[in-house]
Amino acid sequence: ARGTRTLMRNFMSTTKGETHVLTSAAEVTESQKSEAESWPIWDSTEDFKAQKQPKFVLRYRLEERVVILSGSAQLSPTNGDPPFVISAGDACTFYAGFVANWVVTSPMRKHYHYFDAAGEMCAEPSKTMPVIACDAEGCGKECVDESYSIETEDICPKCVQKARGPDKRRYQAAVRCELGAPAPETGGAQPAAATAKRKTPPAAAARSSKAKAR
Ligand SMILES: [Zn+2]
Repeated sequence: ARGTRTLMRNFMSTTKGETHVLTSAAEVTESQKSEAESWPIWDSTEDFKAQKQPKFVLRYRLEERVVILSGSAQLSPTNGDPPFVISAGDACTFYAGFVANWVVTSPMRKHYHYFDAAGEMCAEPSKTMPVIACDAEGCGKECVDESYSIETEDICPKCVQKARGPDKRRYQAAVRCELGAPAPETGGAQPAAATAKRKTPPAAAARSSKAKAR
């Protein structure tokens, strides 16, 4: 079951194959700095006090641009790209779709803003992102990051995995989706039930997803 579907397209921005662009402090231009001055500030100082070197996974649903004011973090992209460090003075653009494990290694403050596919400033993802609720009975879990589309239903990965009997057979034809759109085959970890026998060709899946969006 889906919420604000019409916005979906905006979030599938093209990234020219890049997941992020890091500009080291020495290369950050004055205009980059002054643009960022009006952006909100993310401050991890309190988190840092509560848990030494906070660790978390960030999955970018929108492009985010940041200018680091203080502190540092190590980022390990989940796509196998080499880990890198961002620290005071650096600017970084994270494109939509970028996923990384973060370790904040020194209390970080950064200016940040989100941008849509057209490069326009936009509200943060929590206020604009589509909502997909799992349609499996008694679940309802939010599963926009990864869902399985079957007929008119959206099923979360957990429910696909634990399905038995008729549902299990039915879910074998489900299409794996990321942000509500059919996902490219990545070879990553996927519930076996959904990948074992995929009968819907990608073109048909794309058509049915468009049809549902109307
Ligand atoms: Zn579920």
